[in-house]
Amino acid sequence: MVNYIVLVKQVPDVNQITDNAFDTETGTLIRSRLSNVINELDTRALAFANDMRNKAGDKNAKIVALSMGPPMAEEVLRYSLSRCADKAVLLTDRALGGADTWATANPLAHSIRRIVKDIFSGNRNYYVIAGMQSVDGDTAQVPVQIAEQLRVPCVTYATHNSYDDGRFIFTRITSGGSQMVSPKQIPAMITIADFEYPLFAGFKRTRWARNFELIRWSNDDIQAPYTGIKGSKTRVLRVFPPGKTARKRKRIEDVSSLAKIVIEELANPSHHKEKEKAARRKEYILPRKRSDCFDRSYEATEKEIDDFNFLAEKLRQQGVKSPDDFSDTVKSKIIKDCQDKLHKKTIQDMLDGFRNTEPSYQGQVWVIAERAQNGLHSGTLELTGKARKLADSLDTEVGVVLAGSNVEKLSSELFAAGADKVYLIESPLLGKFDPWAYHKAVSACIKDYKPQIVLFAATPLGRVLAPMISSGTGCGLTADCTGLEIRDSSRREQIGILMQTRPALGGNIMATICTKDSNSQMATVRPGVFDKPEPDYSRKGEIIRYKADVSDDDISLEIISTESGGAKVNLNADVIVSGGKGMQNRDNYEMLVGKLCDFIRDNLKVSVERGASRAAVEQGFVDRGHQVGQTGTTVGPEMYFALGISGAIQHIIGISNSETIIAVNSDPEAPIFSNCDYYIVANVEEVVPELAEELSKQNTIQV
Ligand SMILES: Cc1cc2nc3c(=O)[nH]c(=O)nc-3n(C[C@H](O)[C@H](O)[C@H](O)COP(=O)(O)OP(=O)(O)OC[C@H]3O[C@@H](n4cnc5c(N)ncnc54)[C@H](O)[C@@H]3O)c2cc1C
Repeated sequence: MVNYIVLVKQVPDVNQITDNAFDTETGTLIRSRLSNVINELDTRALAFANDMRNKAGDKNAKIVALSMGPPMAEEVLRYSLSRCADKAVLLTDRALGGADTWATANPLAHSIRRIVKDIFSGNRNYYVIAGMQSVDGDTAQVPVQIAEQLRVPCVTYATHNSYDDGRFIFTRITSGGSQMVSPKQIPAMITIADFEYPLFAGFKRTRWARNFELIRWSNDDIQAPYTGIKGSKTRVLRVFPPGKTARKRKRIEDVSSLAKIVIEELANPSHHKEKEKAARRKEYILPRKRSDCFDRSYEATEKEIDDFNFLAEKLRQQGVKSPDDFSDTVKSKIIKDCQDKLHKKTIQDMLDGFRNTEPSYQGQVWVIAERAQNGLHSGTLELTGKARKLADSLDTEVGVVLAGSNVEKLSSELFAAGADKVYLIESPLLGKFDPWAYHKAVSACIKDYKPQIVLFAATPLGRVLAPMISSGTGCGLTADCTGLEIRDSSRREQIGILMQTRPALGGNIMATICTKDSNSQMATVRPGVFDKPEPDYSRKGEIIRYKADVSDDDISLEIISTESGGAKVNLNADVIVSGGKGMQNRDNYEMLVGKLCDFIRDNLKVSVERGASRAAVEQGFVDRGHQVGQTGTTVGPEMYFALGISGAIQHIIGISNSETIIAVNSDPEAPIFSNCDYYIVANVEEVVPELAEELSKQNTIQV
């Protein structure tokens, strides 16, 4: 008999976040002002588990819902019981509050062990089913880290299951395609990206669920060693609203004006980017290399920089030249001078902070490479370019781990992008990506060489590998970053640390996070966030061959089939024309998107690719390789056309690095209009052919 544990979480309703949900002074979110709901993907996980139980046909199999949260999280367990769960466990304890993903995964893994012992009577035939991610954290790390801690196979981004000859086969989304896989053994963890068949609650079952006696555990019952803020491996430095969108959001009334804008913007590429770059903060310099020993203009927050500037000025006024001159008399004078603005303890910490000049971490800056169909994933090259800048600031080298079978030839591309060293891990067993085999090989290399920073692209592959490696090596991980900077937190004796900024709560807030209690600082970064460096083929580097200690036993998944989703999809093109469900059918998609692409390519002399929303892919308008968005590809073209696309957050995440976004939608209230530069409220069937015609006319005139 196979049993099921479904992880469910109570989350704030991100669709209802109002402006008064933020504390304007601190920029933090006031959780009590938000209503709470069950995480949407967890409802799919419940339905998925129920579907598996039905297919396996064992009526005695149990579904246990497990949630960690405050006492009020019992609501989501009653929801689960009213749908399909037979038992429900609430892990609730003040000591568990404020946990990051590491300190969430650890107590949940311990709870799962206890469920197996107490409720399944030690029967280890079970699946853990979880929503791929929760809307508040959006990290997709917790289920994978739990799988790593339980040492069980992990199938991520599952969308379907089938039962054949006594075993389950799962369809899952991969980078630019899909795959059918089966875990080689159970227990196994399955994370759900989508599942179409919702469960509804009947009246009788709802009453039963309401009166059901939940099992409540505290940390004493499970004895997890890593809990709460103390047991976390990351620390949130600040939370702030993302600011108003910088998009123009300009309504265009006629197609002729839109054609003019298209031609003008494409004739002047990347002008926004240049401006943005100029506004960026200065690149980091280590304290020991700064000309002024009191220069602390690289602190994490503007407030800290201001405070240090203020204190430095007072020190100069006292004639103090270096921290060696901080006598007791100087200190008391400074405290007296500054006490109107700064607290005494703060001044003391800051004075001590001036003595910190050596970086807190040692070692190289690493990127874990990912391969694509025809070479390296663009995210790998972008990260190598960024790693080069971080390493230069830190006075160290860039290393890239390249794992696979017969991949040495890709090293030259990595050196050209900025790598000094390529750690080559080759084995026939690494020819295809298997989470456990890659985890074992790459983690061993990290443990041996101890890099100070390890970066992964936030692709479906990176979002499995990074949590596994972070869990196995005991390092903190920040997922889906949109910004990386080296900064100091001098008062906390932290110099040259990686500040990792990422959106959370469905993009409603931004958080800057740093790593703690870890040998390496680990982060995944959304592809398209950083520019791909211009390749410099004159650069040379060193290949370090690292022996992979992997065997057949380390292969955790049997890959039954892989659908690559179209052979040559170039989502790095200058222009992407995407169609959504509003295209109505495959023929319309072909005709309208295809026509506009052909026209732009032939006449405006730029590279063009077709894109699609997930709904369009699921309707069969185009292959999955063209899907743009959170579970598709993140793109950053000069121009992005969203035709008949509503603008769901999962789609917007994937296009926010585009220079110019143009939307056509018949619904004047379509959310895409708040996230684009120019839009027309109209039917795509009318606008698109007219646009091609206008572009043709106006382009000829210009020529
Ligand atoms: C975990 C998760 C991951 C996801 N990942 C992705 C992802 O990677 N990418 C992605 O795109 N989505 C993703 N989604 C799905 C996402 O939430 C939306 O469901 C999806 O983006 C909707 O696609 P759409 O805009 O084409 O369809 P709809 O939301 O149905 O919108 C169709 C739009 O077309 C307009 N329209 C209809 N007819 C016409 C016409 N004749 N002319 C002009 N306009 C017309 C309508 O007004 C409407 O705005 C994900 C969801 C989840 C839960």
